[in-house]
Amino acid sequence: MSDTEILQLLESVHDPEIPSLSIEDLGVLRSARVSDDDTVEVVITPTYSGCPAMDVIEADIKKCLTSNGFRNVLVITQLAPAWTTEWLTEKGREILKKSGIAPPSRCGTASFSENRIIECPMCDSKSVELLSQFGTTACKALYRCQTCLEPFDYFKCH
Ligand SMILES: [Zn+2]
Repeated sequence: MSDTEILQLLESVHDPEIPSLSIEDLGVLRSARVSDDDTVEVVITPTYSGCPAMDVIEADIKKCLTSNGFRNVLVITQLAPAWTTEWLTEKGREILKKSGIAPPSRCGTASFSENRIIECPMCDSKSVELLSQFGTTACKALYRCQTCLEPFDYFKCH
């Protein structure tokens, strides 16, 4: 099986916190290859160090590959370069929004500031207020839309 085919298999592995989002769309899945001794080496980069979802993701990667006939699966956590929200794919951003989570605004190389434009994932209003720096998980902040009054998670830039 080629490296590309392995990556395709791994599209079925999803982020446990956002089940509609695959680890590929999240940008966590970096590479996969079969080494000489038939071990599959999968490289992942956590969205932030100590993210508890990573243990689940690692177990799911192993389960996915062993159920496809691979006996030796090695999941390598690569911390550098660090994951950035830029690694989210366009599809990933859309899935986040459909899940009611505001995707990170374009961070790029712009200086760090929380004064970015955050849009309500429900009604696209830009009139939003921060309720808490921490939403349902540490990766997210909790906002409320002042137009439709719905609270929503914002996937923080980093
Ligand atoms: Zn709204």
